[in-house]
Amino acid sequence: MQYVSTRGGVEPVDFAGAVMMGLGTDGGLLLPSTVPQVSAGALRAWSQLSFQDLAVEIMAPFVTDAIPRSDLVDLIDRSYTTFSHREVTPLVQVGEQRILELFHGPTAAFKDVALQFLGNVFEYLLEQSGGRLNILGATSGDTGSAAIAGVRGKDRIQIFILHPAGRVSPIQERQMTTVLDANVHNIAICGTFDDGQQIVKTLFNDLGFKRQYELGAVNSINWARILAQIAYYFYAWGRISRGDPACRISFSVPTGNFGDIFAGYMAKRMGLPVDRLLIATNRNDILTRFVTTGIYASGEVHPTLSPAMDIQIASNFERYLYFLVGQEPAVVRRLLGEMDLRGRMQVTAEQSVAVADDFDSASVTDLEILEQIRETHDHDGYILDPHTAVGVRAASGRSDFVCLATAHPAKFSDAVREAIGIEAPPPPCLRGLLEKKTRCATLDASEDAVRGYICDTLAATGY
Ligand SMILES: *Cc1c(COP(=O)(O)O)cnc(C)c1O
Repeated sequence: MQYVSTRGGVEPVDFAGAVMMGLGTDGGLLLPSTVPQVSAGALRAWSQLSFQDLAVEIMAPFVTDAIPRSDLVDLIDRSYTTFSHREVTPLVQVGEQRILELFHGPTAAFKDVALQFLGNVFEYLLEQSGGRLNILGATSGDTGSAAIAGVRGKDRIQIFILHPAGRVSPIQERQMTTVLDANVHNIAICGTFDDGQQIVKTLFNDLGFKRQYELGAVNSINWARILAQIAYYFYAWGRISRGDPACRISFSVPTGNFGDIFAGYMAKRMGLPVDRLLIATNRNDILTRFVTTGIYASGEVHPTLSPAMDIQIASNFERYLYFLVGQEPAVVRRLLGEMDLRGRMQVTAEQSVAVADDFDSASVTDLEILEQIRETHDHDGYILDPHTAVGVRAASGRSDFVCLATAHPAKFSDAVREAIGIEAPPPPCLRGLLEKKTRCATLDASEDAVRGYICDTLAATGY
C-alpha cells in the first residue's frame, strides 16, 4: 500500500514511510492511495472475532509488507494487553442508547487505543531501520499522558512532553510525572499551553536541530492513529449486527480534531454498513457550522467542560476535504490558501450536499452537558464523562445510535461532581496517583531553555 499527501507534494511512501513521516513534508496529511474494500462475506466472518483479531484483519491491507502478518499479530496483541477490559472496547447498553467504551486503556481516555499501537509501531520500525526517535510535544492534558504511556520504557525512543506548570489538573499532571522510566522527560514550563506549543513549533521549524536530534511528533495527524481507530467501528458493528450485512448502524462521536470521526468515515468507505455519522461538538462548533452551511470559518476558542474538544481548527479535517473535492490536491491547496488568507473557506453547493450526505452534526452547550450527565445518571445509573455527554446529548431523540465514550468519568471529576454531586469511582490506573513518586523538570517558557534541556538530556544518554 502506498501513501500520498492531501497536498500532492510527497513522493508515494509505504506504511513505514508514512508513519515515520507523520506530517507530510509538504505540510499535507498522508492517506492511502486506495481504500481497501471489505466484502459482505468478510464482514460476516469478522463479526465473530475478538477486538485484537479484528484489528489484524482491518490493518493488514493498509500495512502490507512494512510489517509481516505474524509480527503484526504480535504487535497488536501487545498493544491491547495493557487494557483493563477483556473486550478492549466493550459495548454497553445504557437506557435507549449503546455506549462504546473506549477508555479502558492505561490513561483512561480513548487516545490510548491509537497511542498504545503507535508506540509499538515506532519501536518495531526503528528496530528494523536501526534508527532512533526523539518525540517532542506540548500538551494541555490528555494527549501527553497517553503519548507517554505509549512509549515508556522503549529502546530507541526518548519522549519530551511540555505542560504548563500548575495549569493542568492534578490528576493529569500526575499521570505524566509519575512515569519514571528513563526515556520519559516531563517538562513543566512556567507559562501557558500556547507558550509550550509555540516553543515546540519553533524547535520543529529549526530544521537543522530537528534533523540532528531526529525529532518527531505524536499528534493526531499520524496515519497509524487513524488506522487503529477504524477497528472499533467494525467491532461495534459486529457486536450489534451479528454479521448481517443488511444491518446498518449510526455513530455519535464527540469531536475535536476530527481524528476519531474520520476513522468512522474510513470504515464506511471500506464498506462497513454505517447509516449516519454524527459529529458532536461542544460550544466550539466550527465543524457543526461547516456541515450546516458549507462554510469553514475559524473563531475564538472557548474553554468548556469538555476541554479535549476545545479546538479552533480540526487538524484531521484536511483528510476529509481531500475526499470531498474528488482527491484533487490542487483544490485542497486552493481552499487551504483561502483559509490562511481570510480565516474562512467555502465549498460548492454540490459539495455541501455531499457533506450533509456524509455527516450529521450538532453542537452542545456546557449546560446541556451537565443536564445530560444528570439525566443519564438518574435514569440509567450510568456516569458519563463530559466529552461522552456531548455525544449522547447530540444523539438524543435519534434512534439506533452507538455513542463513543472517549474518557472515563473519573478523569473529569469536577464536571461530574457539578452535575450529580458525586464522583465516579476511579479505575485502577487513576488510583493512588497523588501518593506516587514523581520526576519532572521545571523550565522557563523559552525556546533556549527547552533546547538546552533536550541537548543535555540526550548527551547524558550517550546520544
Ligand atoms: C482527543 C479527545 C476527543 C476528540 O477526538 P478527536 O479525534 O480529536 O476528534 C474527545 N474526547 C476526549 C476525551 C479526547 O481526549
